[in-house]
Amino acid sequence: MARYTGPVCKLCRREGGKLFLKGNRCFTAKCAFDKRSYPPGMHGRRARFRRKTTDFGTQLREKQKARRIYGVLERQFRRYFKEAERRKGVTGAELLQILESRLDNTVYRLGFASSRAQARQLVRHGHFDVNGRKTNIPSCLVKPGDQIAVRARSKNNAYFKSVPQEMEHRFPPEWLSVDVNTLSGRVLALPTREEIEAPLNERLIIEFYSR
Ligand code: SF4
Repeated sequence: MARYTGPVCKLCRREGGKLFLKGNRCFTAKCAFDKRSYPPGMHGRRARFRRKTTDFGTQLREKQKARRIYGVLERQFRRYFKEAERRKGVTGAELLQILESRLDNTVYRLGFASSRAQARQLVRHGHFDVNGRKTNIPSCLVKPGDQIAVRARSKNNAYFKSVPQEMEHRFPPEWLSVDVNTLSGRVLALPTREEIEAPLNERLIIEFYSR
């Protein structure tokens, strides 16, 4: 599945806020948004004062922000929207729940990776089992009761040996439980809207696709 491979700090600057796409670096003085909090490009600095945003523009930006936070391309994002519409609950909350229950996001939320991009790579490289079966598809959706574990042979690699120490600073949300000793986690329930921390206004995203 395709993914965005360009410079990610530009995405934060474009969306006018920190999207935390680079893991630990986002919390250091090296954060590009902290240094240059205006849109990228030649006219970015001036555009910040000039721009008059229409309703469409606001909706578009919110949708782009969601895509960028979760690392999803347009076609797949639209598919998630259709799936959210099909479900019985509130479409916006359902959409965020789908995004949040992607395997790469779950691995990130469990604390096995410092960013969703890193989690995606770890999944792609086949370091995880879901319910005892090797799974290397980042977009795979987890469900309550699923167990996600670092594969036995991966536990010996240098990265995963350092993970327990890193996890001391990471706190999984209430819908997940994690066992640091066995490097495994369980999905207790699907996240409610209140448990999803992403700074998104899902109403704007729904308005964008309902035009
Ligand atoms: Fe965004 Fe992180 Fe880059 Fe800062 S360091 S601009 S938060 S991706």
